[in-house]
Amino acid sequence: MKLYNSLTKTRDEFITHEPGKVRMYTCGPTVYHFAHIGNLRSYIMEDVLEKALEFEGYEVIRCMNITDVGHLSSDADTGEDKMVKGARREHKTVMEIAKFYTDAFFADCGKLNIRVPALVEPATNCIPEFIQMIQGLLDKGYAYTAGGNVYFDTSKLKKYYVFSEHDEEDLETGVREGVEEDTNKRNKADFVLWFTKSKFEDQELKWDSPFGVGYPGWHIECSAISLKHLGEYLDLHCGGIDNAFPHHTNEIAQSESYLGHPWCPQWFHVHHLNTQSGKMSKSSGEFLTVSLLEEKGFDPLSYRYFCLGSHYRRNLVFSFENLANAQAAYQKLIARVAALKPEGEPDTEAMVPLRQNFQDALGNDLNTSLALTQLSNALKAKVSDATKQALVAQFDRVLSLDLIKKAEEMREKQRRENEGEEITPELQALLDARAAARAEKNWAEADRIRDEFKARGLVVVDTPQGVKIKKL
Ligand code: AMP
Ligand code: ZN
Repeated sequence: MKLYNSLTKTRDEFITHEPGKVRMYTCGPTVYHFAHIGNLRSYIMEDVLEKALEFEGYEVIRCMNITDVGHLSSDADTGEDKMVKGARREHKTVMEIAKFYTDAFFADCGKLNIRVPALVEPATNCIPEFIQMIQGLLDKGYAYTAGGNVYFDTSKLKKYYVFSEHDEEDLETGVREGVEEDTNKRNKADFVLWFTKSKFEDQELKWDSPFGVGYPGWHIECSAISLKHLGEYLDLHCGGIDNAFPHHTNEIAQSESYLGHPWCPQWFHVHHLNTQSGKMSKSSGEFLTVSLLEEKGFDPLSYRYFCLGSHYRRNLVFSFENLANAQAAYQKLIARVAALKPEGEPDTEAMVPLRQNFQDALGNDLNTSLALTQLSNALKAKVSDATKQALVAQFDRVLSLDLIKKAEEMREKQRRENEGEEITPELQALLDARAAARAEKNWAEADRIRDEFKARGLVVVDTPQGVKIKKL
């Protein structure tokens, strides 16, 4: 399998420290609001990556944090904690907000067939681990205390900007205008590991520590949580492209300085879902949720199909028109699977090359749209329907579009339509009344009941198998 690696900026052959085993870390959501469908694009593509690795035969051990403290609204370490802002907006406590939006996030994942990683860890569960790591960085001279906070000293590193050719000037322009600078920093790129002082004194959650009562910075949580669950050597780290700098850059700085050796060789970044006016973001307040798509009549899996149709390293522009096109294509695919008449055993030998084409598409830097084309080719191939059905079932372990289940539902619906309408208790009552009227030769009443069916767009048909109700 070849994957583009943001660190080397080339497509690299995927390798692991331990043969056959992938230790994979995913930056989780900041749970101060609903996840928008941009966030969920990242999680869909990471989910496909995990499943594609399994399709290749790897065992994947995956960990994800839940950011419930320390993610500030400004990269310059002078903003307010997003969780505190969220709690104030909704007149709730930070922990209430965290619980509500964590549950909402997993409910959305469920609707999109995103598998929840085996290891999920809220940041507030790991304060001792953060303290231990920060203490280690202080002991090794990679961190310093200033103005009450603990900072990482980026000047101690040979190379800090690992993902990009950022320099201090770029960084300066990256910091939003109107955000004042933190004058405690020795170098512009330094970042906070532990806060005890900020101009926002209403931080709800604070913990005792050797550095004073306070709370952790956002970046330390991913370094410490990944170390806690996945050990000193990570194989693969994922996130949205906006996380590459400063978040992932800082994670690498902390982890490698603390551990004293290289930490994670492969970085997978998903590019943004954009609206017509730019990146979809939670802080701008302009964002779409899975529930909103449902309210507009879309199946959430149509959105998954929409995401699979484009490469993860390209920005994807969302519009309802594009989504409607994806939904139509998805329905057509389901209909093609529903049209199969799988009888007998699949031809396992014939499956091999078709399976290989699909695997090659995924192995080509996770080319999901090519993988969908290979699925379509398999449905056109000169093999039996049972073989096709078996291939669809295998491919769908990666695509997770519920193709077999939805095709079965479609077949069932068609069967029902041919056989007649479902007889609800209300319709049964009408049928009983009709039978009684006929038995009494009360034709006027029987006609009235016929008109009641008609008003519902239905007609009663007497067949050799009994009474059926059909559409007019
Ligand atoms: P957050 O909840 O803000 O911490 O973000 C959760 C994940 O969504 C991170 O991996 C972000 O990089 C990613 N993300 C944020 N905005 C977008 C977007 N518009 N498109 C794709 N991924 C995004
Ligand atoms: Zn992270």
